[in-house]
Amino acid sequence: MSRLEPMYRRTCWLCGRNGSSDPLDKHHIFGGSNRRLSEELGLWVPLCHHRCHDGGPNSVHRNAETAQRLHEYGQLKAMKAMGWTAEDFRMNFGKNYLPPDYTPEDEEEGEFE
Ligand SMILES: [Zn+2]
Ligand SMILES: [Zn+2]
Repeated sequence: MSRLEPMYRRTCWLCGRNGSSDPLDKHHIFGGSNRRLSEELGLWVPLCHHRCHDGGPNSVHRNAETAQRLHEYGQLKAMKAMGWTAEDFRMNFGKNYLPPDYTPEDEEEGEFE
């Protein structure tokens, strides 16, 4: 299995802050039993520790909508890097996070390079 380039972005995935007032944490996009695979594939993002990681109302650990957005982002990232289809992703991670009406045209929208 090849490896994704780690995401070296030094700003928060959610709000773009640089961590100067709220230090950035490393959050694995897919946790639980997929945490190790997330780590291996570089599927993690920096998040402000309090505001965006697990404290604020929109933080990924408290807001299902934010978590879903991040899961979609992570899945597309993995599919692109590994050349996977959504089904390949599901076989590796146990779940397809893309919405049922997802079409590839949506892909650029969430891109965050
Ligand atoms: Zn986390
Ligand atoms: Zn943030």
